[in-house]
Amino acid sequence: MSAAARLRRLTEEAEIIVFEQGDAVSFASCGLPYYLSGEIKSRDDLLVQTPASMRAALDVDVRLHHKVTAIDAAAHTVRVEGPQGVEDVAYDQLILSPGTVAARPPIDGLDLDCVHTLRTVNDAVAMRDAVSGDPASWHAVVLGAGFIGLEAAEALHMAGVDVTLLEAAPHVLPPLEPEMAWLVRQELTRMGVRVHEGVAVTSITADGRRAVVHMADDQQLPADLVLLSAGTTPATTIFAAGGVVCDERGSILVDDQGHTNLIDVWAVGDATVSRDAVTGARRPVPLAGPAQRGGRLVADAIASDRPSRPLPNPLASAIVRVGGLTAAMSGANRAGLVTAGIPFTTMHLHPSDHAGYFPGAQQMHLIVHMDPATGRLLGAQGVGPSGVDKRIDILATAMRAGLRAQELIDLDLCYSPPYGSAKDPINMVGYLADNMLTGQTTLWQPGDIDSARREALVLDVRTPSEFASGHVREALNVPHTELRARLDEVRTAADGRRIAVMCQSGVRSYIAHRILVASGLASSTLSGGMLTLQAWLGTRADEVITKG
Ligand code: NAD
Repeated sequence: MSAAARLRRLTEEAEIIVFEQGDAVSFASCGLPYYLSGEIKSRDDLLVQTPASMRAALDVDVRLHHKVTAIDAAAHTVRVEGPQGVEDVAYDQLILSPGTVAARPPIDGLDLDCVHTLRTVNDAVAMRDAVSGDPASWHAVVLGAGFIGLEAAEALHMAGVDVTLLEAAPHVLPPLEPEMAWLVRQELTRMGVRVHEGVAVTSITADGRRAVVHMADDQQLPADLVLLSAGTTPATTIFAAGGVVCDERGSILVDDQGHTNLIDVWAVGDATVSRDAVTGARRPVPLAGPAQRGGRLVADAIASDRPSRPLPNPLASAIVRVGGLTAAMSGANRAGLVTAGIPFTTMHLHPSDHAGYFPGAQQMHLIVHMDPATGRLLGAQGVGPSGVDKRIDILATAMRAGLRAQELIDLDLCYSPPYGSAKDPINMVGYLADNMLTGQTTLWQPGDIDSARREALVLDVRTPSEFASGHVREALNVPHTELRARLDEVRTAADGRRIAVMCQSGVRSYIAHRILVASGLASSTLSGGMLTLQAWLGTRADEVITKG
């Protein structure tokens, strides 16, 4: 619909026809979870445009209940099955935007009536109607804890339904780094949503009115409703049969103008492959923002006789609300960088959303990956109750603009105590990056904890009471304020080993690290401190951390 609307604004000459097999166009698919939760009250609020409004404003001919079943690129026609029968419709230019369907993993029982997807307005309406009478008597199992799964789990929980969330990958929202996903998992648990991670569903069987979900570890979960949110599959079979070249997953290959391999055939949206802006990997990025941009730019390319702006390579910026937390990300994560062979170093920060002395300040958790040699920004993630969206959007903008991490120091951001700090979290990323790039700071990572325990002196520079509340088993406690006076004690304890310094968030350990370096002791400071270490360890925390 973005392409159709833009095309009309560029030319009054074209006849523009949109075929849609369903009963709605331009519905707010991203809003469906919020209808399910009850936050969006009326079904009509989800219908952004209707065929009548598209005809009136833009003279676009939208034909609902019309299914395209084949294309003949040589003849420049598409075959369409509609209420009046089958017809071949000629085109000069054809834009494919079929999107995706819910992926159906090989699990027996997905055809049972209790298994739903959350893709159309009718899906959301059916589910809300079903649970609305006595939500507390319903138990929902959400199969897949990606974006839709998390949003649906939150929505069903808000609607009063008892929810269990299942994720086959080792942690919820797999694109998040594990130490960030742990925070999301904690929030789900706090809300009362049960979470099973790292376990696949093997089958779903009927049991009277209820279903039973069987998992690979032999657990069984009763369910009145199963929501299938296990990813997406491009709806491209008929186009591939018509000669459109797709990748092995069925996603349509396009050039940087949105052109397919066929003359006068273009493709946009969730069914296409993009080139990752950071790693260069070819992969689908089924998100609303890139799809909207694609639609507009393809219309520009069709209407103009000059080359139009290329489709931008997406950073895959994404955000999701889970209870009281927001999780947001942009650019590459560790796994993507490792696969692409891109060297990186990682910074963890736990700044406040606004000045700590102003009421209501809340801590957020940020991760930024950068090139250790140049400071090129490679990826960023944030989790927290407030202010995360703004910081990740700034980092996404910086990545798009090609700013180096150390240049974040120079960003002049709006500041007043209710909104931020004179040193905004973004400036803090810049300071830390600059310290690392100039050798002022050397970090060790939570993933190095096992080697640090074996080979280094772990020096915890928090206060004795913080230390007593939980510390790495082998650690020596010397508060950073006493370190200058107790250097000999530390040197003796280190006995030639490097010193792995840590504190709660990474601020005091940086001060201690500088004192040790000035004294000629080899040391590094734990990125993100105990806060990050605990989240990294997750269920392993008891093995490494002890109290007393
Ligand atoms: P997704 O890829 O985000 O998540 C699917 C999840 O299902 C993954 O975590 C995967 O590991 C898990 N999974 C797959 N098979 C499984 C199995 N057999 N058992 C248990 N878990 C299994 O896909 P989605 O949530 O269906 O969303 C579809 C697309 O829409 C995504 O690309 C997403 O980015 C996009 N989307 C984005 C937003 C947002 O940005 N807020 C919201 C909704 C959807």
